[in-house]
Parts: sequence; structure tokens; C-alpha cells
Amino acid sequence: MSQQNTAPRIDLVSDTATRPTPGMRMAMAEAQVGDEQRGEDPSVNALVERSAALLGKEAALFLPSGTMCNQIAIAVHCRPGDEIIAAANAHILGTESAGAAVFAGSFIRAIDAPRGIFGAEDVAAAIRYKSVKSPRSRLVSVENTSNGGGGSVWPHEVLRAVAAEARAQGLAAHMDGARLLNAAIASGVSTRDLADGFESVWIDLSKGLGCPVGGVLAGSREFIAEANVWKHRFGGAMRQAGIIAAAGLYALDHHVERLAEDHANARLFASLIADIPGLGVDPANVETNMVFMDTSGTGLDPAEISRRLLERGVRIGAWDRTSMRAVTHLDIDEAGVREAAASLRALLAS
Ligand SMILES: *Cc1c(COP(=O)(O)O)cnc(C)c1O
Repeated sequence: MSQQNTAPRIDLVSDTATRPTPGMRMAMAEAQVGDEQRGEDPSVNALVERSAALLGKEAALFLPSGTMCNQIAIAVHCRPGDEIIAAANAHILGTESAGAAVFAGSFIRAIDAPRGIFGAEDVAAAIRYKSVKSPRSRLVSVENTSNGGGGSVWPHEVLRAVAAEARAQGLAAHMDGARLLNAAIASGVSTRDLADGFESVWIDLSKGLGCPVGGVLAGSREFIAEANVWKHRFGGAMRQAGIIAAAGLYALDHHVERLAEDHANARLFASLIADIPGLGVDPANVETNMVFMDTSGTGLDPAEISRRLLERGVRIGAWDRTSMRAVTHLDIDEAGVREAAASLRALLAS
């Protein structure tokens, strides 16, 4: 892995680049703590209660990462030989070290969905006939917002239809809500309503919410009891975790409404770079805090563009061989976006 002594001045590599704010650090310093594994940490208890209410579920579990939220949910829902239906560009498929195969012995049937969004009819078409020779279709997983889909927001009625189809066919429905709060702010629909009909759902605290660590997984009491067994099994049970849970409580108070600023900054960035020759950017595709750029017309490798931008103090990551992704967040203001756009323009013009 490459190491850097100092972070780039303007870091658009991901919304995980946020640093805890002074207010958040203060809340962490003052947090009440106890032994989390014993259920005795008041800050963790407050965070899970609040998250369960936010997501409209009976119970919730504090976990060290979003990946663990996904993997534990999959392990609770699926048994070896089961099949999961998800978008081909889903995080659980391409970005979790094949955890579904390793931990749950399950594999993923990929639906071709460039914006990361598929319909009830796609679910129906992907479900296997019951046969001794077929994998058992067991779980439908949606990602809202869809990261690989460009930060796209699932229309509420599509979510409802997908969850209803899963239920009708005896499958469970799971929502990777790493950026569910971005979806809620962008759509004006509450997280509770967006998660309705899904057996499991989680939010990441360490993305746009700006916390250093953590995710919260929610579901029925029974689901969460099972998930808690997996939490211990994975070694994810903690001790005085209130120090980091306090950051989550602080973020839910102070960092949710402001996600609208990140969305406005992403739209601004897209509009500022839309006419750069060779760069493919469609501002109409910017629904939340991500801007994807098709670099094929520049004649340069995205990794090369990324490296040269870094020399100018701006970090935008290569997403794949022909595209780059910029993500706005708490530590990026309008001036930063303007400077990043100007740097990209200067670089590609030279
Ligand atoms: C980041 C991300 C995850 C994993 O979260 P971590 O906290 O980084 O483990 C899962 N799903 C999506 C859509 C993500 O963007």
C-alpha cells in the first residue's frame, strides 16, 4: 500500500476521508463508557436505541465497520449453498473480499444494473426454480445510495416493490445503507420509510457522517440476537466502545442535515468540469455526493490522472480502468470543489 505522510489538501477520494471535528472530539472525550460486550456501555446503548428508531426496527447492533454489518447480515440470512440477488456493481459483490462466499458459503447472482438500481421484475427473473440442483435463492440485497451506481438514490416505490417481491417469494431483503442518510436527505423520504419492508438495514457512521469508526445494523429483536452471536464470533464485540459511539450520537445530531451541502458541492463540481474536453461527466447523474468521470476520451489512464492531480494537492481516485470517482464530504467546502475543478481542467488542458 502506498503511504503518505500528509493528506492531500483537497481529498475527494472518499467520504471516509473526514476527520472528527473539534465538537465530535469533545463529545468523545466526555463520553460515558462501560463494558460494551456486557451491554453496559451507556453511550453504545443510546446509539443503538436511537439508530433502531431512526431505521424503524426493533433493535440494533453497533459494529466496527460497514463491511461487518453486511457480512453479519448475510451470515444470519444465508446458509451454505444459498444465493443472494444483488446488483453487479454492489459493494458486497466486488468490494468485500468475497466475504459472502467465505463466511456464509453463499454466492451472489449479479443483476446488470448500471445505476445500481433494479426492479421487482428483475428479482422475479433472478429467482431460481426450486430444484435439488439449483442454489436456493435466499436474499435480495439493495444498496441505497448505490456507490458503484454513482451515488444514485433508489425511488421509494421501487424499494417497496423489491421488498414486496422478496417477501412474496419467501426471500429476505437486506439494505446496504452505507449512505442511507444521503438518500434520505436527497429524496426527502425518511430513513424509516426507506427501510420499511427490509429485514435488515444498516448505516455507516464513518462515511458522510464524519465519525472515525463504526456502523449500526438494525432489524427485528430475533435478527439482532443472532447477529450479536456473529459479532462475537467475528471478534467484533468491543469494550469501552462508548468513546466511538459518542461520535455517532454527535453525528446524528449535527451531521445529517448538512449532507445537503455535500450534494450541492458534488453538483457544483460536476457542472464545473462538464465541459473539460475528453472527460465524460453528466451532471444530471449526480444525485448525492459522488461524481463519476469517464476518462476514456482523455487518452490517459485514470491512475495517471490521479497521480498528477495529487502533485497539485488534490486527490481523486481511479475507480476502474476508464473512470474516476470524486466524493464530497464534511471536510470539503465550495472553495475546495472550485480548486479541484480548476486543477483537473489545468491538468487535462496541458
Ligand atoms: C463503504 C461501503 C461499505 C463498507 O463500509 P466500511 O465501513 O468501509 O466497512 C459497504 N457498502 C457500501 C455501499 C459502501 O460504500
